[in-house]
Amino acid sequence: MIRGVVTALGTGTSMGVPTIGCGCRVCRSTDPRDRRTRPSAMVEWDGHRIVIDSGPDFREQAIREGINRLDAVLYTHGHADHILGLDDLRPLTYPHVTGGGRLPLYARRETATVLQSVFRYVFDDDYKYGGIAKVELREFDGPFELSGLRIVPVPVLHGDAEIVGYRIGRFAYLTDFSEVPEASFGILEGVELLFLDALRHVPHPTHSTVADSLKIAARIGAQQTYFIHMSHDLAHEETDRTLPDGVHLAYDGLRAEIDLEG
Ligand SMILES: [Zn+2]
Ligand SMILES: [Zn+2]
Repeated sequence: MIRGVVTALGTGTSMGVPTIGCGCRVCRSTDPRDRRTRPSAMVEWDGHRIVIDSGPDFREQAIREGINRLDAVLYTHGHADHILGLDDLRPLTYPHVTGGGRLPLYARRETATVLQSVFRYVFDDDYKYGGIAKVELREFDGPFELSGLRIVPVPVLHGDAEIVGYRIGRFAYLTDFSEVPEASFGILEGVELLFLDALRHVPHPTHSTVADSLKIAARIGAQQTYFIHMSHDLAHEETDRTLPDGVHLAYDGLRAEIDLEG
């Protein structure tokens, strides 16, 4: 068994909560759990640390959680709310932090292509202006090993695009899906800690609703399920009260222990 800790770095949808210019009751809420930065999670074990996605709030999340070193970043897909913090990885790619190597970024081909185009200067060997993250893309097309752990990509449908979530031991992180394909339920058997996209109650073409995610959570049967990627439609306290045992809304900074090997 490899005991690990998962931290919800950000639990909000693409615009974050509060949303710019919005005066709704959730955006004005004083409950800190109603303040949701863009979606990301951190996994730590035995002196190792990885993050899943690096969105526009990565800097704030890293400072909040005291992130001073990373083994790698795993990307789920190339949408802005999941990648735009790549530039803020810079201080974590200094040679005295990495030990000399480049920080590995794991991504499927489609996502790697987006990263290379959005952050063209980062991958340009002739870039003359300094101050760029020393990273290296590592493309995968199936399960891979990372710092002694087996990382299993879990395909999900985000509208008509197939993207990936991840399973690591008894933990699974599924963000940005409107549908979990049948084959992926097989990959998720035995998961005990599950993070699931649950945008809001009103249907959305590329995201899951609370009702649909409750059905998925029940089918997977994890002991603990936490909803993520939430919009300002969901007030934390009020929504959390309506959820069944073992299912909760996540909030920024939430931590949970889990076996990352089983
Ligand atoms: Zn997305
Ligand atoms: Zn997203």
